[in-house]
Formats: sequence, C-alpha cells, structure tokens
Amino acid sequence: MALTASSVLRALSRLYHPPKTFLHFRTPLDLLVATILSAQCTDDRVNVVTETIVYPKYRTPDDYLRVLPAELEEDVHSCGTFRMKAKHIREACAMVEERFSGQVPQTMEELTQLPGVGRKTASVILSAAFGKNEGIAVDTHVLRLSQRLGLSRHGDPKRIELDLMAQLPRKDWARFNPLLISHGRAVCTARNRRCGACVFSEECPSSSVHGRTDKAKAKRPVRRRSV
Ligand code: SF4
Repeated sequence: MALTASSVLRALSRLYHPPKTFLHFRTPLDLLVATILSAQCTDDRVNVVTETIVYPKYRTPDDYLRVLPAELEEDVHSCGTFRMKAKHIREACAMVEERFSGQVPQTMEELTQLPGVGRKTASVILSAAFGKNEGIAVDTHVLRLSQRLGLSRHGDPKRIELDLMAQLPRKDWARFNPLLISHGRAVCTARNRRCGACVFSEECPSSSVHGRTDKAKAKRPVRRRSV
C-alpha cells in the first residue's frame, strides 16, 4: 500500500520524540535570529553560537541595531556567510521595530516580509514560538524524504508543502518537520539510504532492499534564496 504523510507521521511518532524545534531559543526574537543563522549551517553550531555569544548579549531588536555591523558579523562569524546573515538580522530587527512595535509578527504574511525569512523559516517560528500551524517547513530533509517516500512528485518546496498539507490534518503540520528531520538524520541521509534498518523498507518506492532507485535523485529541487 502506498505511503501517505499521515501513515509516515504515525510510524515516525512511535520511533522519535523530537523537541518542538532543534534550535534553542528563549523568545520569538531569539528563534527569528537562530533560523536566519541556520541557513547552510548545522543546528548544533547555531546553538553553540547563540547560547554562548548572541543570546547573552542581544535581547531586543534594538540591541542588534545599536552595535556596529562589524561587531554583529564577528559575533555570528562561525555560522558561515556571516555578512549576509548579520545584514538580514539587522534589517529584520529594524522592520520589527518600525512596523511591528518591537514584537515579532505572528502571521505568515507578515513574517515573510522580513529580510531572510521565507515560508520555511516562518513556519518554524509560527509553530515553535507561537503554537500556530500555518504551514509545513520543507527543509532539505523534508524535501528529500518526501520524494523518496513518494509523498510528492515535485521538486519545488512550495509544491511539496502543498502536497503534504493536503495529506495531513492541520494539527499535525508542526510535528511533521521535526519527525522527518529525525529520520533523515538517523536512517535516510542524503548520502546513505539505510533501507535495511528502515521502518518503511517494504512500502517505500525508493527502498534499496527491493532494488528500487532513489526517487530523490530523479528530482531537481528548485533553489530558494531565503530560508
Ligand atoms: S526505505 Fe530507504 S529510501 Fe525509503 S525512507 Fe527508508 S531509508 Fe529512505
């Protein structure tokens, strides 16, 4: 029987008990900054930088704006592409101050107006910081596994998100991303399909146990500029 996002979610819920998000944060502003820093960087590295350098020093949007750009760049240096990330953080903080009275906005429409914030980042912030299900964050793990498991035929994250949203009740949207990340890290990595150890080895259309080809490799994902 073909897998669906609902059957995948049920199976993975029995295997993993992930946190709401893999990024550590105290406030919605912290999470906004952490998600901007996490582009092309591991969550572990971001957590080290935010907890030892960023969070103790910056508590409000104004804190990020009061320092010189070079100082913020230095503070986030080890997260990679630090000039662009520091620029996005400062521009986002300026917009939060000017348009949203210093509060991180709580809708998809408003959040995606912030520099460096796409639907994926906004979905993470809305679900983890505000408990709102307004979308499914399609990161590299969700994209790859959705293709391999046959949950979507598309390579574009937006189309994949629509396919997944149609297969899942809204209440489950926020849980889907961390569960697929957990499975994508533990069993079905980008380089190595450990199909023999996978709970989906029988039904998965990419299962190497049955000599099937990797469906994710047949897709060419569309690159997004923001996270
Ligand atoms: S069966 Fe293989 S390809 Fe399919 S999800 Fe499991 S590890 Fe990935």
